[in-house]
Amino acid sequence: MRLSAAISLLSLLAAIPLSLKAQATNRSSLAAPSVDRPGRDPKQPIDEQYTKKILEYTTEKFFLSPLVDYLPASRTVPTPKVVLGDIAGAPNKLPYSKEVYDYMRRLDAASPRVRVYTIGQTEEGREMIAVAVASEALMNRLDENKANLAKLADPRTINMNDAEAARIAATAAPVYYITGTIHSPEAGAPTALMELAYRLAVDESPYIKHIRDNLITLITPIIEVDGRDRQVDIFNWHMQYPDRTWPNLVYWGKYVAHDNNRDAMGVTLKLTENVLNTYVDWKAQVLHDLHESVPYLYDNTIGDGPYNAWVDPLLTNEWHMIGWNNVQEMTRLGMPGVFAFGAFDTWSPGYLMFIAATHNGISRLYETFGNGGSAETLERTLSEAQTSRTWFRQNPPLPRVKWSLRNNNNYEQTGVLVSLNYFATNKRLFLQNFYEKSKRSILKAKTEGPAAYILPADDRRLGAQAELLKIMQKQRVEISRATAAFTVLVPRRGGPAGNRAGGQTDTTARRDTSAAPRVTGAVSREFPAGSYIIRMDQPYSRIADALLDYQYWAPNDPQTNPYDDTGWTFPEGFATQAIRITDTTVLKVPVQAVTGPIVAPGGVTGTGDVFLINANGDNALTTLRYRLRQADFQAAEEPFESGGQRYARGSFIIRGVASNIMDVAAKDLGLKVAATGSAPTVKTHPVRAARVALMHTWASTQTEGWWRIALDNLQIPYEYISTQEASRDANLRAKYDVILFPPGGGNAQSIVQGLPMWRNPMPWKQSEETPNIGTYAQTDDIRPGLGWSGLANLETFVKQGGVLVAVENTAQFAITFGYTQGVTMTTPTGNVVVGSLLRSRLVDDASPIAYGIKDSLTVYSSGGESFSVGVTRGGGRAGGGGPAQRATGRGTPDDVDVVQGRPAMEERFALPPRVTVQPWQTGPVTDDMLRNPTQLIPPEQRPRVILRFSEQRDLLVSGLLNGGGNIAQRPVVVDVPVERGHVVLFANNPLWRGSTIGTYGLVFNTIMHFDNLGAGRKLDEK
Ligand SMILES: [Zn+2]
Repeated sequence: MRLSAAISLLSLLAAIPLSLKAQATNRSSLAAPSVDRPGRDPKQPIDEQYTKKILEYTTEKFFLSPLVDYLPASRTVPTPKVVLGDIAGAPNKLPYSKEVYDYMRRLDAASPRVRVYTIGQTEEGREMIAVAVASEALMNRLDENKANLAKLADPRTINMNDAEAARIAATAAPVYYITGTIHSPEAGAPTALMELAYRLAVDESPYIKHIRDNLITLITPIIEVDGRDRQVDIFNWHMQYPDRTWPNLVYWGKYVAHDNNRDAMGVTLKLTENVLNTYVDWKAQVLHDLHESVPYLYDNTIGDGPYNAWVDPLLTNEWHMIGWNNVQEMTRLGMPGVFAFGAFDTWSPGYLMFIAATHNGISRLYETFGNGGSAETLERTLSEAQTSRTWFRQNPPLPRVKWSLRNNNNYEQTGVLVSLNYFATNKRLFLQNFYEKSKRSILKAKTEGPAAYILPADDRRLGAQAELLKIMQKQRVEISRATAAFTVLVPRRGGPAGNRAGGQTDTTARRDTSAAPRVTGAVSREFPAGSYIIRMDQPYSRIADALLDYQYWAPNDPQTNPYDDTGWTFPEGFATQAIRITDTTVLKVPVQAVTGPIVAPGGVTGTGDVFLINANGDNALTTLRYRLRQADFQAAEEPFESGGQRYARGSFIIRGVASNIMDVAAKDLGLKVAATGSAPTVKTHPVRAARVALMHTWASTQTEGWWRIALDNLQIPYEYISTQEASRDANLRAKYDVILFPPGGGNAQSIVQGLPMWRNPMPWKQSEETPNIGTYAQTDDIRPGLGWSGLANLETFVKQGGVLVAVENTAQFAITFGYTQGVTMTTPTGNVVVGSLLRSRLVDDASPIAYGIKDSLTVYSSGGESFSVGVTRGGGRAGGGGPAQRATGRGTPDDVDVVQGRPAMEERFALPPRVTVQPWQTGPVTDDMLRNPTQLIPPEQRPRVILRFSEQRDLLVSGLLNGGGNIAQRPVVVDVPVERGHVVLFANNPLWRGSTIGTYGLVFNTIMHFDNLGAGRKLDEK
């Protein structure tokens, strides 16, 4: 249904009395109606044509508001039509990033109220921008205003002077930062934000002028620029071939898809870094991210519990104030389906908008409604869950409506304008809160604590430590370094936790599965000079604390569906120490501020042409192997000593490289290298710069993207192939030594089958109409999977000496199709583990996969997956070693049954004594198995368990663990020899969101030792 002209006239008339009333009211007092109530300025002409189109493209009159049912006219400033050829939100038009930027720059050129800034580039080199809009007066004093905001952002600069802060809060203009289209198939925001920028710059109504005069609106219209351009490609392809099915957006950004909104902890992606820098540099108060997956407008920041435990409670009140005001005002305007609360929990700080929450601002997120990346107007039928009336959704969305891109743009703009107006009205309060939160973040060191975290200079993994510190720098956390050795009290725990207890590991003391720290006093500990100290008396202490601390999600939490990972403790994930210090004397330790890049100490000491590097699991060791391709690298299969230093098993002995070249590489990569005249006498094997392929499916590339970004950052080369390429290549071994098959969703069958082959081919390929697609991975048809030929090719690859690395669902794939024998995989049902960190134990430290890996390694578990192993074909054994079972009969459970009427049984007829088999072990080989051992796996082909999960009492490191008896002690990493090659199975995901640096080494070791994985193996006797 289209709106009639009469309706637009009605809304126009309705606006007039409001604005007349406004003129009679004092603007600076509370709630002058025209300032608080939207409505156009009748004196300002409207753009008749544009307005007519707004009404035409909006499918129901109640999907309009008095904020967007007209467009003010300007003689000098162009409307979005100038680049779109139609209005914002017009059917069947999605602009590319360059069109959006072109428009924003035209606004900048035409209006003194608009300025466009470059804020960085994407991984594929596309520009990211931010557009500032405010009154001329405000724009003229941007720098002065920013200097004032900076004083509120860092109260140390005004000596925590509350009176001074109050003076600034009364006069400064806050910055409200809006970001669009981080999720590429949520496609409405760019046009909504183009029009929003125009309205803010041009509209003379009191409501909009109030916003423009009192705050700076900052807009990044497109966050995921690479994905946006591809989404437009796909949509255009669909418009060109309307009768064909079209492919999903297989790639959004270069590396990850939806997970680009889970990167605000590790800051691995450019988009996160660029937004974080913009947010912090502008001293913004709000970061408001626009999504669209829920009808019609869900303000989800209020969400449900549990709330993040490290943010200031002042913030959670602000969420409610702004969010419920939003619902209130849009309800007043008659727009249905606007609500808050809902199912989203605010526990994880990984969401992009949470950058604000962890940096003393206000995070906000809208879910509006869209048509899945299409600009078509579509009939939409909603589920009962979406349309039911609940206490928090009194005016729910309608079960069946026609939905247009324009509707989406109306909701987004109305919601944002209502929020901006509320923020402008209450700016003094919010600026005061901004100051209070910043101040309380500084006081935190001495109030709730901790006072600091210490990253000791004698950590065994200084490379991983440097990686962690780099993330702290990206988060704009201040880091200092002790200029001399110092002693402070560290907590003494009743429990184990290597890092918590200051590097001491004692797994016997823990009695339950709780991650809650059990402090049983404090002990003095001396830390060497050069130890890093992250003090909590700084404005951004909260993000540091949130990342370095432990998380505990109670199994009986009322929230039964965690929205994302429940645990992330970065020092655990990085296998490095960061010791939580509550002793405030740490704040008096003499320190130097750390500025500039952080690299672990490295370089060559000593003389000689043999170079020794201790194995400590650091990732730079693998980078070095590839950088010095021509050099001879050997790995010691046993520990050894040289020059008074102990070297762990797996340490490198390198020859054939000039000392100066080694020195440059070692300094650059942060590796300590000892030169010596003679190599130690120890058994060695070569360490190869193996030829690696990383294989993806065409169904999902999301999770493997985290693997690619890790390899790229560490300069570990690989070829990127799809399952389709594996299906066509009968001699994969000629090209590759190792094929990584990271997790990617889908079951074993769907990896082989691919997508359904009915209807038409779906290309993912660069073409004239899809110029942004297929630049690094393409196919004529995304539907075919690995296929039976690919299945055979992969098996041949392994049997010929290749190594296949399979993880989570691809491990299940390898097991299902019989690549491995004697292994089964279990995934618990229900929420036993939801993105938690779990503790593992080393089972076989002689395996090259474990070189440099310290016991009690923390691993990331997505859903509590684990293996079990056995000696026969097919299955691993079930479960753990429980008590002996006996049949029903006489006596107590431990008694021996007695058969009536038969002489008592002699000892020689009894079973041999029962051997306890641990849950990570294969069961015993019995005489029956040996008689005709068709099903018995030969000892050298049996699964070799490298890593197992810890005992249940200390299994949980961080996050949720509900029970876990069926996970505890079971294998996590298993090396399965298959003829000349190996399949290495991971139940954990060792490369995840840039936050599991500590487990990367398990994969890199597999790569470098691919042809010697059997080293150090002790075979079963029979
Ligand atoms: Zn989204």
